Parts: sequence; structure tokens; C-alpha cells
Amino acid sequence: MTLRRLRLSGFKSFVDPADLVIERGLTGVVGPNGCGKSNLLEALRWTMGENSVKSLRGAGMDDVIFAGAETRPPRDFAEVAILAEDAAGDEVEIVRRIERGAGSAYRINGRDVRAKDVSLLFADAATGAHSPALVSQNRIGAVIAARPAERRAMLEDAAGISGLHIRRKDAEGK
Ligand code: ATP
Ligand code: MG
Repeated sequence: MTLRRLRLSGFKSFVDPADLVIERGLTGVVGPNGCGKSNLLEALRWTMGENSVKSLRGAGMDDVIFAGAETRPPRDFAEVAILAEDAAGDEVEIVRRIERGAGSAYRINGRDVRAKDVSLLFADAATGAHSPALVSQNRIGAVIAARPAERRAMLEDAAGISGLHIRRKDAEGK
């Protein structure tokens, strides 16, 4: 699964529709404090099914909806779309939408689906909401400060091979 594009509307500080192209390779997000870098990563994770309000830095799930600013009223919904390319090279669009006070719903290629269908789509450990391929600000510090053995574990996790160790230990009867 390759992420191609991210479209946001009403998500946190992204009140106006935004459309970001994600190029191949490693993507870094830079900008002044408070410009919305972390919000972008949270939009990705949220659309992949993240339901931990704490990890989305809110008190309730409605906190992902634009809450208003001095000159702008709050919004009553937020919608984020991820455009991706699957292993076969086909385009797939995953949309999550939340309405204030009414919860959220998912669509895959325009069809209403269950949250479970989205997590199954991202089931590959290397692409889900908890994927080590999404490195948030506080995790960068953790990578730098880690001891070599810990860093190796992180890299194996990112490469999606930690499951192999678990299976090997299992086979060795440990
Ligand atoms: P830093 O460099 O400090 O990490 P950042 O670029 O990661 O900053 P974010 O944390 O993504 O910035 O964005 C913070 C901004 O998003 C704040 O100005 C905050 O008020 C705004 N914000 C967060 N949630 C909402 C919301 N629901 N409605 C409106 N604005 C919001
Ligand atoms: Mg940040």
C-alpha cells in the first residue's frame, strides 16, 4: 500500500479543504510551531481507524472537528480522504467523516464500510494507524535516544519483520 494523497476538510486546524500530494520515498513535514504538522499525521492515523482520543490530543472524538477561531465559526463535520495505491497498483480511496455529536463513518471507494473493513485494509503492520512508518515528533527523540538493541527493534518493526522473530521463538519452543 502506497499513500498518494491526503485530502482534509474541517479536520482540526485544516478548516478549508486541503489536498496534499505524497511523493514516493520518505516524506518530512516542516513548518513553524503550531502550523499543523502533527495534525496532518493525526489526520492520516485517524482515517486509518485511530480511536484513541488521547493519542489524537483531544478530550473527545469531536475535538478533531475544527472548533472555530476568532474570525471563523466552528464546523459541524470533518472529513479526511486518503488516496492510496494497493500492491496491484490500483487506486483505493479511504474516507472517514465525523459529524459533531453523531460519530463517524467510513467509505472505501465510495461505499459505506465498517471500521473493521478499514483496519483489515491496513492490516499489513507496515501501513496501519500504529505503523512505525508514521514517525511523530516525540518518536524521533525516542529513536535518537534509544540504545542500539532498542533501535534495532524499532527498525525491525518498521520493516515488518518482527513477526518473524515471534514465529521463530514459537517454533523453537521458547
Ligand atoms: P509544533 O511545531 O509545535 O509541534 P505543529 O505544527 O505540530 O506544531 P499542530 O500541533 O499540528 O502544530 O497544530 C496545533 C494547532 O492546531 C493549534 O493552533 C491548535 O489550536 C490547532 N487545533 C487543534 N485542534 C483544533 C481544532 N479542533 N480546531 C481548530 N484548531 C485546532
Ligand atoms: Mg507537532
